[in-house]
Amino acid sequence: MTRRLPQVLCLSGHDPGGGAGIQADIEAVAAQGAHALSIITALTVQDSQNVRRVVAVEPQLLTEQLDCLLADSPVQAIKLGLLGSAAQIAVIGAAIARCAVPVIADPVLAAGGGAELSDAALREALRRELLPQVQLLTPNAGEARRLAQTDDVLEAARRLQSLGCAQLLITGGDEPGSDVLNLWLDAQGKVHEFRWPRLAQRFHGAGCTLASAIAGRIACGDSWAVAIAEGQRYTQNALAQGFATGRGRLIAERWRPARNGAVS
Ligand code: PLP
Repeated sequence: MTRRLPQVLCLSGHDPGGGAGIQADIEAVAAQGAHALSIITALTVQDSQNVRRVVAVEPQLLTEQLDCLLADSPVQAIKLGLLGSAAQIAVIGAAIARCAVPVIADPVLAAGGGAELSDAALREALRRELLPQVQLLTPNAGEARRLAQTDDVLEAARRLQSLGCAQLLITGGDEPGSDVLNLWLDAQGKVHEFRWPRLAQRFHGAGCTLASAIAGRIACGDSWAVAIAEGQRYTQNALAQGFATGRGRLIAERWRPARNGAVS
């Protein structure tokens, strides 16, 4: 019989340094035992320190790529990362409706280095059009506050859930504290806390890695509880083994999971 792997459709930006974006997605999905189908939403000019420019792909090209690919290849999950423009959201929404599989979305609003990666129209389209189609949104605390327009992280999670996304995992890597506190608001409205020792270095592409690892696990058939717990463990290990590509932040070691020692 022909061998098949679970497949994740990834729509993300390209980071030429390989730390974030589509390369992070492909590696993190592969490390879970799934295969990534990769569609690039935007090209970027960036190094290991910050993003300088984002050039969105034409929505028509995305439509053609999605039509061609999805007519041929089944997918078990969809992972969304950096989106290039508000106009892309209608195209992506149609593809999501067509696939009817779980959607894991990492709302990339700004780079860790400080560059703005979204405009007001994109944030509004994300809130109004995309959120109702998302099963798990994975903002960091700052992104959750910005999207929900409130300072309280838990209140932000509940507001975003009321806009239609089924569940949220809000990460605390961008918050102060000796531990990183991640909050999962499940589909029943229950909050689950995950605490991870804060690593000393600063990282690039951590959010992409986490969301893609969860998507890979969902595609492989894990429950949300297992995918969310194990996706975090995988990401923590990959960050603990992180390495430098330049003078800026480290990137996760996603591709050689066997080398990753256990981090509890
Ligand atoms: N570039 C691309 C293509 C991304 O998708 C992201 C984040 O998801 C970034 C840059 C910024 O990554 P970070 O904030 O981890 O530096």
